[in-house]
Amino acid sequence: MEQKKAAGLSRRALFIGGGAALVGGTAAVYGDELARTWWLVPGIDKQRTEGEVDHKGARWVAASAANLRTADRPADYTIDRIVIHVTQGSFASAVRVFKNPLHAAAAHYIVRAKDGHITQMARELDVAYHAGNRSFNERSVGIEHEGFVDRPEDFTDVMYRSSARLAAGICRRYGIPADREHIIGHVEVPGTDHTDPGPHWNWARYLKLVRAELEGRPAARA
Ligand SMILES: [Zn+2]
Repeated sequence: MEQKKAAGLSRRALFIGGGAALVGGTAAVYGDELARTWWLVPGIDKQRTEGEVDHKGARWVAASAANLRTADRPADYTIDRIVIHVTQGSFASAVRVFKNPLHAAAAHYIVRAKDGHITQMARELDVAYHAGNRSFNERSVGIEHEGFVDRPEDFTDVMYRSSARLAAGICRRYGIPADREHIIGHVEVPGTDHTDPGPHWNWARYLKLVRAELEGRPAARA
């Protein structure tokens, strides 16, 4: 037991050292990472690498630890839903508020309208507070899309395609069917007062793109 404890401590020391080296003295990032203290949470012993993403090509920007709960999904919670959101603001403002510990919410991903760029702010392992419903947070991955629900022109072709690639990857990772029962809007989460993604989000188009990705014939290259 003593030996085990010692091993745990040295692993923690190594992690902190590695984190400090990786962030290169960026105090804010280092502080956020320390605040997570995931290695002290019982049952959570998966090694995590700062900056690692679940979707290839995504950029990592950590959300505040206050806006999510560290978990070990899908080992502790089954992931069977993807929740589609619209930011009701700019991409930059969404990144900013998810980093703010007072915001009390964050999604796993934000997709940018102009080029489909994806920033990941919470690991899929973790429960991000995006659905406003505890069990739906625990069972889902949240994707934010830059734009406003009443401005259909915000939902660009490149954003649909990029998000569909992301959603297809999530479906593949957790065996989630690509249908409207499992890929839902925030508006469909029980108890929510949110309306996103709104009436202009083209569900038929989106699901078609997700299925094309899953079937290995991405429409983007057709
Ligand atoms: Zn939402």
